[in-house]
Amino acid sequence: MTRSGNHHDRFGIAPTTMVHAKGIRKSYGHLEVLKGVDMTVPAGTVACIIGPSGSGKSTFLRCINHLEEINGGLMLVDGDFVGYRLEGNRLYELTPSTICKRRAEIGMVFQQFNLFPHMTVLENLIEAPVRVKLEPVDQATFNAIELLKRVGLADKRDAYPRQLSGGQQQRVAIARALAMNPKVLLFDEPTSALDPELVGEVLEVMKGLAREGITMVVVTHEIGFAREVGDQLIFMDGGVVVEAGDPREMIANPQSPRTREFLARVR
Ligand code: ADP
Ligand code: MG
Repeated sequence: MTRSGNHHDRFGIAPTTMVHAKGIRKSYGHLEVLKGVDMTVPAGTVACIIGPSGSGKSTFLRCINHLEEINGGLMLVDGDFVGYRLEGNRLYELTPSTICKRRAEIGMVFQQFNLFPHMTVLENLIEAPVRVKLEPVDQATFNAIELLKRVGLADKRDAYPRQLSGGQQQRVAIARALAMNPKVLLFDEPTSALDPELVGEVLEVMKGLAREGITMVVVTHEIGFAREVGDQLIFMDGGVVVEAGDPREMIANPQSPRTREFLARVR
């Protein structure tokens, strides 16, 4: 599956690269959380990120859609700078409207679902397409119903989030992210807040998206999912990528002692 990229030639990056992170640095005050993170996610592939708590996984995801300002490095999504433009070797902030536009092209699914509690499922799904993309309500509603079928929740369109199980809420959150037709979907521990018996239904939806060729970056502790669905597995620790590679090979035969130790703990 190929996606339209417009600026690839300008930056000399292969047209199939959806996320290109190079030397990403991020500090909070004196605390350096990301110490030069490199990552390349080809379009249509799934990258799974694992690592201990506090290693910078969420921060990295948040840098991809400019929820955090990076302090150094290069972040391109589909060939476009996410929050910056480069002049010489200096980064300058894009205008707020450009940042909004770029962010709208990147979907994010959080551990805590983050649905709007006062809106029905359908209203949650059409809110951003109507407000941000100025889609007509009819069209947004039609798309939303199709998406709800895709995540198996067509019968819940008029329910409020509180009337749904955690697994159902997370499937709505995934449908809501898809409603913006994003170039890439970011997941931050999407099943960590769920009761164990509800994890499977969310992972099934995510597997379906992977089969459809949706580009995904998934922070997860579900090693089985990473092995089955991931095209690459990335182990982060202490703000750096310690090891990355083919999930099956890495899980069977981790090269770094830190990776080995972590995998032994989570399995
Ligand atoms: P992970 O997702 O791998 O658990 P995070 O990216 O959430 O790691 O956090 C990495 C480090 O950055 C932690 O030490 C955390 O306390 C710190 N941190 C995260 N967000 C902030 C923030 N907004 N302000 C200050 N420190 C933060
Ligand atoms: Mg986190």
